[in-house]
Amino acid sequence: MRALQLLADRDLALAQRDPPPPPAPGEVQLRVRCVGLNHIDVWGFRGMAFAKRLFPLAVGAEAACEVVALGDGVTTLRPGDRVVPYAALVCGTCRECRRRRENLCENVGGVRGFHIDGFAQDLTNHPARLVAKIPDGVDLRDAACVAVAYATVEHMLFDNAQLEPGETILVQAGGSGIGSIAIRVAKALGCTVITTVGSDDKAAKARDLGADHVINYRTDRFEGVVRRLTARKGVDVVFEHTGADTWAGSLLSLKRGGRLVTCGATSGPSASLNLMQLFQQQYRIIGSFGSPLSALGRALDRIASGVRPVIDAVYPLEDFQAGLARLESRDVFGKLLVEL
Ligand SMILES: [Zn+2]
Repeated sequence: MRALQLLADRDLALAQRDPPPPPAPGEVQLRVRCVGLNHIDVWGFRGMAFAKRLFPLAVGAEAACEVVALGDGVTTLRPGDRVVPYAALVCGTCRECRRRRENLCENVGGVRGFHIDGFAQDLTNHPARLVAKIPDGVDLRDAACVAVAYATVEHMLFDNAQLEPGETILVQAGGSGIGSIAIRVAKALGCTVITTVGSDDKAAKARDLGADHVINYRTDRFEGVVRRLTARKGVDVVFEHTGADTWAGSLLSLKRGGRLVTCGATSGPSASLNLMQLFQQQYRIIGSFGSPLSALGRALDRIASGVRPVIDAVYPLEDFQAGLARLESRDVFGKLLVEL
């Protein structure tokens, strides 16, 4: 069978590999159909000094799969079921797992496709307790956007920012995989959506998604436009993931008591914070990373109800690296996928 393997930092190759053994008790064997690309794949490809891992390592953290075999004791799934696997091998028994806050697990056995073997291979075994079933009517490409991107948005907007109908939200980088999903989810909820993009072409696409106001951050200071659009009040929620370039402006865009939720720092990890501004304005700043397992099911249900992710392009497995290069260049609008 095929496996797309990272042999060393920045050295990716398509190889033939023996198929996995039959699934162990509690595991399922999955045929991988579609893999979603995310910034975690870019970090994994470049290499990160603190990530301990053994090469070769199959890449791919986000996937949609079909169950092909069951290990002993698996009663919740059947061969032919379509599933989305949760990428982190969380323990299921620690205090945080028992509270269903798996993204705070105290004993994570690694993130698939990053620390340990991932999903860019034809077949792989995975714990049956760590999958979400794909509802009928949701196609595999849409489902392949869920485990990392859509579930991250779900967790940020609802568990963390507690976004409510009628609120105003600023979505940074509306053309990104998660930004485009956030626009659609917030609009479906009944929010007013302001978003930033880096080109006029992306601005038109963001308007097509339903964004009420689109700001080209290369030609306008977005925080000034946001204050004008909100009659100087600011927005209820800022959806952040761009980091250093936008941090100060994002805070200036918040109204008193507003919430800023962030899951990334693609433009750089360091920014300053005015503590006077933080407490006087009563901001709530919330870090968000990954999602609990329940967010995968909620995201899939939201897709089934018609709030679909935005897919920019689908590549064959051998072009995974070309997809990574596009993601790194930010020349995307929506999600990039790889089909097996
Ligand atoms: Zn745990």
